Amino acid sequence: MSRIAYVNGQYVPHNQAAVHIEDRGYQFADGVYEVFAVIRGKLIDPAFHFERLERSLREIKIEVPLSRRSLGLVIVEVLRRNRVRNGILYLQVTRGVAPRDHGFPAVVSPSIVMTARAMALPPDPHKFENGIGVVTVPETRWRRCDIKSIALLPNVLAKQDARDAGAYEAWFVDEDGFVTEGSSTNAWIVDADGNLVTRQTNSSILSGITRRTLLELADKAGVHVIERSFTVDEAKHAREAFISSATSFVLPVVRIDGEPVGKGQPGPVAMQLETLYRRYAV
Ligand code: PMP
Repeated sequence: MSRIAYVNGQYVPHNQAAVHIEDRGYQFADGVYEVFAVIRGKLIDPAFHFERLERSLREIKIEVPLSRRSLGLVIVEVLRRNRVRNGILYLQVTRGVAPRDHGFPAVVSPSIVMTARAMALPPDPHKFENGIGVVTVPETRWRRCDIKSIALLPNVLAKQDARDAGAYEAWFVDEDGFVTEGSSTNAWIVDADGNLVTRQTNSSILSGITRRTLLELADKAGVHVIERSFTVDEAKHAREAFISSATSFVLPVVRIDGEPVGKGQPGPVAMQLETLYRRYAV
């Protein structure tokens, strides 16, 4: 079956879907994006994703090009045309096409692109039952990581560092030795006192939608949560560590830079949250 992409109001064959070379997304990474998980044809936490998209757009001064209702209708159509019941929906908005000049063009309309791809979601519970490894890399990103910008070069390089080291994810570490987040995931630990810990949201990390929902689920389940920074050393000596994202759900981290975390196996809190999130999402 051929794939269909949405490009600026049109549904086009995926292999012919294109934007102009002077799209500011292409030349300046002047745009933002969202990735939605789709399970049984339904988006997970759509309102939170729309809210974050609108915020990202506001922060970079692009007008919201379509209402939530219209975006929702297009998303449903993209999923339908691609027959995606389980998978991901990618949505990107850039400032649009204009002659190359750093400042905003006087007249421009945003480019909107959407693609959908089938993926094993929810993730196979056995796929990562042994946990994953992460490597740590210096934080090289800009100071507005709260904006879901398409400028992902540091994230791309970090992920490749992880792969080259045989790990699944890379954790960025700030100048003070604190973990910010993963290249495409949020970072968590269970500290020595049994508290669930994840970094507070400010401009140093992306406010993950999965993170947000997990905080609520943990709270409801009576797990004590603290939003604070933690160092690599604390994470290595923590009882547990894990990562979260819309497509990964909850993945236990059992090795950091080759050293075991806790007992070197997925821990009970990560497993409990994984179960709670799976129930919530499916
Ligand atoms: N941090 C970064 C840098 C990311 O790219 C992502 C994935 N969007 C996340 C965290 C996790 O966010 P979410 O739970 O919304 O997928």
